[in-house]
Amino acid sequence: MKITDIKTFLMQAGSPPNSGAWAANFDTISTGWRNWLFVKIYTDEGITGVGECSGWPRVIETAVQDLRSILIGEDPQNIERLWQKMQVAIMGHGITGVVGAGAMSGIDMALWDIKGKALNTPVWNLLGGKMRDRIRIYAHASTPEVALQLKAQGVTAIKAGGLKQPVRMLEGLREAIGDEMDLMVDLHGPPWLTTADAIALGRRLEPLGLLFMEDPVAPEQTDAYQRIRDAVAIPLAAGERLATIWGLRPLIERDLVDVVQPDTGRSGGITVLKKIAAMAEAHGIMLAPHSGSLGPIAEYAALHVLAAVPNALMLERVEIDWAARPTVITPAPVTIDGHIAVPTAPGLGVDIVESEIARYPSQRNVGLGKGDYAAGTESSSVYVQSRLGRQRWLKGE
Ligand SMILES: [Mg+2]
Repeated sequence: MKITDIKTFLMQAGSPPNSGAWAANFDTISTGWRNWLFVKIYTDEGITGVGECSGWPRVIETAVQDLRSILIGEDPQNIERLWQKMQVAIMGHGITGVVGAGAMSGIDMALWDIKGKALNTPVWNLLGGKMRDRIRIYAHASTPEVALQLKAQGVTAIKAGGLKQPVRMLEGLREAIGDEMDLMVDLHGPPWLTTADAIALGRRLEPLGLLFMEDPVAPEQTDAYQRIRDAVAIPLAAGERLATIWGLRPLIERDLVDVVQPDTGRSGGITVLKKIAAMAEAHGIMLAPHSGSLGPIAEYAALHVLAAVPNALMLERVEIDWAARPTVITPAPVTIDGHIAVPTAPGLGVDIVESEIARYPSQRNVGLGKGDYAAGTESSSVYVQSRLGRQRWLKGE
């Protein structure tokens, strides 16, 4: 079998901010500035494979087109060989960047899809077989109302994000959902949160019994992670901004996290996700791939890996997402009682719907940069000045 062509499909995931009916509801949280980039690989035997690249999709589209020239004519079934060939071809640009790894991720997924279809078996079967038939998901909520709505739908774990009154917000969520649901927080690793404040915040949150505290500081700050780990009795999670086994290695090797969160679309694909899972397994670390900003093809890829590895914790899912999300793929994943059924069709078990993707041309791929950090506002006290206002914030007032 030989690769004959590779095409990219770039789309705006949601309406741009401040336009259309969605703007009022969705702002810049999960739609508006997000792009999804799908890849399709064609072969001389008529089998095609699909993948998805995240990281910075508009830029990564060019990276995929660059890599196309070294893949045409290759046998798509030699996945590891092709992964290494791509890595060597671009290593002069750096080997842990999310643009290169993002391009390789989508191509890698498509190669696994082709192999599964050629052998008439799902990708999870190629990865060692199934550990489980369904994957537990966690959803996002920052208010008790949304949390209870999700609970009623069967969701068993929720994560709150951001730094607006985190103590008060998380106490309110725990009170609303009780002890039957898992609760997590994502602090988004902002450069303006000092390690000392991350520790102070973590100590305030200890009584809430969080499943994990995510990205208390930027993931590159490994010494800071060690300090937080030594001082706070909450499991830590990180990894969504890092790529390749070399990028994730310090967090795992130094036991700095309890949960590792590689992004399926930009950490290197199914090939790398499986390796990261094995590295984590050796350290007693669980795998919960980052998926909040990803499109539906990368989600399928994550499902196959989570079905196969022993240390799968759960998959991130933004349940309140963009209404058109399920229309750009076929079939849409099946969610029941807070779990997604593991796909059973050969390959990844999903395809893109090109005509629907074409309805949403890419327009922008960066956020609006809302924070103005004006003196006296919440953004100044949280994000810029080290103590003014933050005392109240840490006390939960
Ligand atoms: Mg996150």
